[in-house]
Amino acid sequence: MKTKVNSNKPVIGISANIETIDREPFWGQELSSLNQNYIKAVIRAGGIPVLLPVIQDKEMIRAQVSLIDGLLLSGGYDVQPLLYGEEPHPDLGRINPERDFFEMTALSIAYEQGKAILGICRGLQVINVAFGGTLCQDIALLAPKEKIKHSQQSLMYVPTHTVDLMPDTLLRDIFGKDVIGTNSFHHQAIKKIAPGFVVSAKARDGVIEGFEKTDYPFLLGVQWHPERMVEHDADMLNLFRVFVSKAKEPLDVLA
Ligand code: MN
Repeated sequence: MKTKVNSNKPVIGISANIETIDREPFWGQELSSLNQNYIKAVIRAGGIPVLLPVIQDKEMIRAQVSLIDGLLLSGGYDVQPLLYGEEPHPDLGRINPERDFFEMTALSIAYEQGKAILGICRGLQVINVAFGGTLCQDIALLAPKEKIKHSQQSLMYVPTHTVDLMPDTLLRDIFGKDVIGTNSFHHQAIKKIAPGFVVSAKARDGVIEGFEKTDYPFLLGVQWHPERMVEHDADMLNLFRVFVSKAKEPLDVLA
């Protein structure tokens, strides 16, 4: 397939993961990695994907962010709980403080510049912590009347639980319906939502599955993985389309 590229397409920076290889012969080597689904989803939605590797120099991060029109914070390890004032619970998963620093710095710079920002899974959690919210370190610690499985074992694109979209939210507008089905691959969730944000999506056990900042053009997070569903679900592709199109809109709010 030949994709027509023109320079007017929005450039979407996607945060990469740092992965330490634990097998021979590359034992201990660190890789910048990203699931190809994010890249394909951005291309399908009309954007130009670029990978943002984890770096630690703030001025260099600023230079990275200046190259992009929209920021996509991808999934990955847990956020360091010390960043939201908690000690690590025994069920906390793997963390990478360097990635936390990189993404929070890139996020604050993109935010200052009024750029479109989408957080997926860990991305939503990073946004929540960066803006002063907290996380539940393991969903099993929540005590709803009826628990729901959020770590699905079926194919990645299969919707496995119900999500209710809240009225008068951008997310509800994008999907044009009150109830959707999503996949689910997370063991953490928002505990206290960051000030200035509203819940835009909820699972039936009360877990927050989406949120957004109401006084900003496009700053939205979802707890599920739409990038794994775009080939099977036009609504999930539309979420990326709206994000990519917002990335090219002129800044009129935070100027
Ligand atoms: Mn879920």
